[in-house]
Amino acid sequence: GFRPASRIASVGVSKILQIGARAAAMKREGLPVIILGAGEPDFDTPDNVKQAAKAAIDRGDTKYTGLDGTPELKKAVAEKFRRENGVDYALDEVTVATGAKQILFNAFMATIDAGDEVIIPTPYWTSYSDIVEICGGVPVLIPCDEENGFRLRADQLEQAITAKTRWVLLNSPSNPSGAAYSEADYRPLLDVLLKHRHVWLMVDDMYEHIVYDGFRFVTPAALEPRLKDRTLTINGVSKAYAMTGWRIGYAGGPKTLIKAMAVIQSQATSCPSSIGQAAAVEALNGPQDFLTGRQESFRKRRDMVVARLNAIDGLTCRTPEGAFYTFASCAGVLGKRTPAGKAIETDADFTDYLLEQAHVAVVPGSAFGLSPYFRISYATGEQELITALQRIAEACAKLT
Ligand code: PLP
Repeated sequence: GFRPASRIASVGVSKILQIGARAAAMKREGLPVIILGAGEPDFDTPDNVKQAAKAAIDRGDTKYTGLDGTPELKKAVAEKFRRENGVDYALDEVTVATGAKQILFNAFMATIDAGDEVIIPTPYWTSYSDIVEICGGVPVLIPCDEENGFRLRADQLEQAITAKTRWVLLNSPSNPSGAAYSEADYRPLLDVLLKHRHVWLMVDDMYEHIVYDGFRFVTPAALEPRLKDRTLTINGVSKAYAMTGWRIGYAGGPKTLIKAMAVIQSQATSCPSSIGQAAAVEALNGPQDFLTGRQESFRKRRDMVVARLNAIDGLTCRTPEGAFYTFASCAGVLGKRTPAGKAIETDADFTDYLLEQAHVAVVPGSAFGLSPYFRISYATGEQELITALQRIAEACAKLT
């Protein structure tokens, strides 16, 4: 029979996908399920970007490109880093891959030997630990308190570092918590890293353009030039430009690392899609003003979701600085019983109950390594969100 390789033995199918599949099956049976689980903007890819892709097809940009990005896209990425982040990366310090996910995969595959440790603050995007494990590394998960805004503290980082630590992986704004690190939040962590010269810093800036209330986004390579030669700055067009299906992510980092990552990519995908890359050039070089309007639309939805969650007895929700997720505590409903007499003991019991009773699909904190919480993605139409929140409130009121 079939025998999977040991490297994937401990990596299961993501809980997020499992819940999504169950919710989709219920929907097919005719139940009015609202899915608040998707990690993608509900906006469309901008028209100028679509046009650029069509033009690329027409002019015959339909062949293999340079291994880790076309010169045009690498130039657009380097200019983006300079213009928006104040970081200078030369063209050979820039890499492009099939989504930020492949950037992460290339980076870990290129640097991790068996037993090497990667420090990951929780709650975290599940793929981080799964990719580290597939590469033979050991994810070191550090729970981050809601009181500290779900951010890693310097003393926690200091304690977690060992001789085997290869990377620390930070994600701001965060999926799933929406928490972001200001310059003041980053400073003490960067000071710790300055002392430990064997530890490298990977930052996932994917949600950079989705921040609220004047939050000033910053990235460590700009804040601490002394760390730049051991920092990988990851970003992509998926979330900012509503381009999840185009599969283009990029990163800036030291030349040696970028070269090693290209070795992995050359044997995995050869290069990212030529058409996707042409579209990404236009996304980065074209007009950026539409981002403000999209941000404002997300902010309104965030405020509505946070207010409605906090009005529900048993739930509390911190106001996130960015991304399009809320990460609310359901500690106040644990120990209660459903109308059918079932005890709610964990956040997964609660989200199962919401799916069955309220027909609303959300993801339990346990899927992101921190309980008892649940994540709502509010990248959904406002009316649907209001209905979902009403149903959650009614379902909570039925708990005794
Ligand atoms: N990083 C974070 C924090 C994400 O949430 C996601 C997607 O959900 C990604 C990276 C992957 O993005 P891409 O579509 O570029 O692979």
